[in-house]
Amino acid sequence: MHSVEPHAQITRVQILVRGIVQGVGFRPFVFSLASRRALRGQVLNNATGVLIDIEGECDTIEQFIKEMTARPPALSLIESVERKDNLDPAHYQDFRIVESISNGEKFTPISADIATCADCLKELFDPLDRRYRYPFINCTSCGPRFTIIEDIPYDRAQTTMRDFEMCAACRAEYENPLDRRFHAEPTACPQCGPRLSLTDAHGCEVSLDESEDMTARVRLLLSAGKIVVIKGIGGFHLACDALNAEAVERLRRRKYREDKPFALMAKSVDVIREYCLVSEAEEALLNSERRPVVLLEKRVDARIPEAVAPSLRTLGFMLPYSPLHHLLLETLDHPLVMTSGNVSDEPICYEDDDAIRRLNNIADYFLLHDRRIHIRTDDSVARFTDGREIILRRSRGYAPAPVKLNLKFEREILACGAELKNTFCIARDHYAFISHHIGDLENLETLRSFRQGIEHYQRLFHLQPEVVAYDLHPEYLSTKYALALDEGQTKIGVQHHHAHIASCMADNQIEGEVIGVAMDGLGFGTDGRMWGGEFFVADFLEAERIAHLDYIEMPGGAKAIREPWRMAAVYLQRALGDEFLDLEIPFVRNLDRRAWTTLRRMIETGTNSPQTSSMGRLFDALASLLGLRNAVNYEGQAAIELETIADRDCLRGYEFEIEEGTGVIKAEAVVRNAVEDLLEGLSTHTVSAKFHLGVVQLIATLARHVRDARRLNRVVLSGGVFQNMFLLENVRRSLKHEGFEVLTHSRVPTNDGGISLGQAAIAGAHLASGRI
Ligand SMILES: [Zn+2]
Ligand SMILES: [Zn+2]
Repeated sequence: MHSVEPHAQITRVQILVRGIVQGVGFRPFVFSLASRRALRGQVLNNATGVLIDIEGECDTIEQFIKEMTARPPALSLIESVERKDNLDPAHYQDFRIVESISNGEKFTPISADIATCADCLKELFDPLDRRYRYPFINCTSCGPRFTIIEDIPYDRAQTTMRDFEMCAACRAEYENPLDRRFHAEPTACPQCGPRLSLTDAHGCEVSLDESEDMTARVRLLLSAGKIVVIKGIGGFHLACDALNAEAVERLRRRKYREDKPFALMAKSVDVIREYCLVSEAEEALLNSERRPVVLLEKRVDARIPEAVAPSLRTLGFMLPYSPLHHLLLETLDHPLVMTSGNVSDEPICYEDDDAIRRLNNIADYFLLHDRRIHIRTDDSVARFTDGREIILRRSRGYAPAPVKLNLKFEREILACGAELKNTFCIARDHYAFISHHIGDLENLETLRSFRQGIEHYQRLFHLQPEVVAYDLHPEYLSTKYALALDEGQTKIGVQHHHAHIASCMADNQIEGEVIGVAMDGLGFGTDGRMWGGEFFVADFLEAERIAHLDYIEMPGGAKAIREPWRMAAVYLQRALGDEFLDLEIPFVRNLDRRAWTTLRRMIETGTNSPQTSSMGRLFDALASLLGLRNAVNYEGQAAIELETIADRDCLRGYEFEIEEGTGVIKAEAVVRNAVEDLLEGLSTHTVSAKFHLGVVQLIATLARHVRDARRLNRVVLSGGVFQNMFLLENVRRSLKHEGFEVLTHSRVPTNDGGISLGQAAIAGAHLASGRI
């Protein structure tokens, strides 16, 4: 038996720490903290969090708890600390870390994948280190997490690293509580861990000299203009030299990706600064352990091929986030294109065989490795505006970390999301587990990824949703999935734009009634028509539609999305009658008259011409009217180009008319004024700006009306149209100037990637109020 001072009061306390506490070095941290104070007991991961059983002097235990909560490991996030005091003594002899147990009921948040830490980088480039230039180096503070976890608790045996047996040296580190790789589940070294392989497009191994470095060879191939598939953390990239215009264009042709911008990777912020303006906040975001692609303003003198991001004034850059990236970019003073390894709009590849099959017509070489990816995650995309980060695609580095909410979900809810940029969300207690970006649910591969994702989240977080929320659009695959579920769940349909507003409210942790402005491409309305230019008075339960853009036909349905000229012609006809055909403007001169006659007939007879109140379609119409483009190659392209050309110094916008009583917003005068300006020779830059500012004025006017009538002062902005920074910043400035509180997205996307959170919030409110 150990001896204790006779006067010291010994007690035993059990402490349960919840939050992001697994896979972030919490147990060794607790171990060293307790050992330093000669406290006895044990620490373990269970399915709820970290459980500490500790014995010693009362005061010392209090100090221990205080220090643990004050300075936890950098990557951890403590949500709560619960304690049971005055337990019967267990007479522990020392302090130990014991094997994990799974109690199989509650969930514990799992860490996202984390970029290589500074300590590991130092070792990576240290010739004396045993992991010198080892492309899979990681530790308790960094490395793959979510993408390799098959089940919880988070232990090596439940990750894809179970394929590799640790060597004696790695095991010694793994078992030493004072080592920085203590219980680093993905730890490995050149003797025992994953290995690289390099093959050509036919699968033949590229032979290297004994002394030749594989990453150096790949760098040579890239410099020679080759396209190389590179297996990463959450999937495969297609890489090429970003300064080689011919290679970039070849990659576009082979990938069937005409204009959508490519993401870039550079070895340092200094390299990025040669091409973009980088603020301090943007630099911090680039350097954060999440390592998203950050959209940055392109320098006017940037010498980079137009084919990287055609017609855009931004470039998307990220820094290396895996040791392999660091090795590849080590001596590169210029950026690489690092775009998702997929064909056109299919989801990113994540299995070797699949990648080789699908990408061998695109790539010349494959740089692969034998660590399996269990869950595919794309690179996340973020930008910085008005002092805060805005997430546009929430995936690697962010998912599956839950979004903490003020709302309390009484029962578990599955929200299935929308069709484009799909994410799903499972909510419980105060947490919303928003999935990684799934993609556009238009093909079987994405649908498979959606189904597998839901199953995986349910397993990882021990969730069995009893309530299922879905979009009202009957043709969305996510809706069909929800309606086909047959396990007794309560189902609730949620209107698309109400979900947008609720998502932004949840994102900002607010409740109560707000003025909701939802503007996007298309979403199914409660009247069966396609909405998208909507003003509401809304809370989590109801959305009262108080104003909306007037309905207009979309001749050809989905075709009118891909061909904005259709919307331009329909709006011109609406504003000016058939005389618009005599206008002396380039759009009309180049108009295909026969095609228009066909559309005209479709509209008259009501053939395949659904009606829409979409603001996104009005942006498309203006872009096409200004001659920017008649057809788009990716979602939102026309509107993005319209934003790009807008003159930033313009002051006044066109005026929309709002019908008294009905709240119907008429755009005819806007279109007429734009045409007059074009006829008078005003530049397209000015006309674009006047259109943007017109929308700003419209939002401000309606917000004032509602404030006067309903005494509401909070304006919530959501929907894909608000990805337009020129619009968003001006709306925010104008509303704030008039004394409104303005709420926009930050933690979840303003586009349809945020819909699932809104659906969950609405379903949660219906549960709490007893409506379902
Ligand atoms: Zn590390
Ligand atoms: Zn080893």
